Amino acid sequence: MEAGLISVDRWAEGSQSYFLTHLHSDHTNGLSPKWSRGPLFCSRITAKLFPCKFPGFSLSLLRVLELGIWYHVPLVSSLTGSETVVSVMAIDAQHCPAGAVMYLFRGAFGFMLYTGDFRWEASSEKAEMGRKMLLSALNGMKVDTLHIDNTYCNPSYSFPSRKGAAKQVIDVIAAHPEHDIIIGIDNLGKEDLLVYIAHVLNIKIWVWPERLQIMHLLGFHDIFTTKTSLTRVRAVPRYSFSIETIEDMNEMRPTIGIMPSGLPWVVGSVDRSTRFFSPPLNSVQKNCSWNINEERDNPSKGLHLLIYSIPYSDHSCFSEIQDFVNLVQPANMRGIVSSTSCYIDPRYFFGRQSNYLNSLRESFEWEEGSDRLKSIRKKLDYGRYKIAQKCEKSPRQTRVDFSCGRVRRVRRKKRGAKILEDQRNDG
Ligand SMILES: [Zn+2]
Repeated sequence: MEAGLISVDRWAEGSQSYFLTHLHSDHTNGLSPKWSRGPLFCSRITAKLFPCKFPGFSLSLLRVLELGIWYHVPLVSSLTGSETVVSVMAIDAQHCPAGAVMYLFRGAFGFMLYTGDFRWEASSEKAEMGRKMLLSALNGMKVDTLHIDNTYCNPSYSFPSRKGAAKQVIDVIAAHPEHDIIIGIDNLGKEDLLVYIAHVLNIKIWVWPERLQIMHLLGFHDIFTTKTSLTRVRAVPRYSFSIETIEDMNEMRPTIGIMPSGLPWVVGSVDRSTRFFSPPLNSVQKNCSWNINEERDNPSKGLHLLIYSIPYSDHSCFSEIQDFVNLVQPANMRGIVSSTSCYIDPRYFFGRQSNYLNSLRESFEWEEGSDRLKSIRKKLDYGRYKIAQKCEKSPRQTRVDFSCGRVRRVRRKKRGAKILEDQRNDG
């Protein structure tokens, strides 16, 4: 794509149009209440939550994109100086119910799909709707460039559906009828899990005041509370969730912690008293449904008596990434997670450009213990990627790059992008 036209989850100067996939902090680095570089396109729910995240932000900059509709954005080519139109469609990314979307762009560059963070669960009705929306928008065309959420782009990552993982959370809570329950969550996301727990157990769930405000904005009015006396289940900020905190709480009341995450294992635990529930990677691969009781009965497997880590993930596991790549058949692809500590290039597993199908076929044929998988793991062991908890918070960068110098000149002629009047065009 030509430089300087669009920017996704990237907020530096030098673009004519800015797109936000969702409000998780690692996608808003550089955004602030004072940001004013031009119109910012996002989903309706994201726009609704904007004042919570950025109080004082000029809401007149926001441009809401409804799901499944093509919008046409006139921009100026930095190469020719003439007008060019980029069409964009927002599609539910199934990452969290709080407005996360992927963007399908169409223009002289062909089709470019930017997933943002996404979960592509085959069993989900919402995913099926997204699938139909995407295929309808592509209308038989292939994606030229795919920017994909590669957080778990490795065959080692296999975890159950969120529905299955949510049942595991219920099992853990039900097995501790006399305990207080502490669940670690982010400022956004995991709402479906909390609502599910509340419904199944017919209880309210405590959240901190700012989170309660977000829950109300999302339409959850009777489920959450800030009164600790009303419930034994509390959802707390992930940053405050620690072994020390849980242990301190146990001095007052019996308490267990639950950490829902696709990255539940901690490599190199300190000692037995400070380990997370950490099943061996192989057991996760072979059996998505972890046997919690078995692990509890055998502390040598790495179980911390007070903390359960449940593989509830808002990111796609490897097989789901594989399904998605197979669906959109990109000519080229790049991972959106890029950092020195955790970067897994999806092309490593899915091949490059037109060769990707062959690579994909090969990857399906890999079996545990195969020479190829062993050799890949060996490379991984030598630092191609590292599993670490901080990977979840590693910065994401779009690769929709551009030349700042050229764009500044264009922006003097036309500051920012507007949606064309006849924006609602299904074509
Ligand atoms: Zn996210």
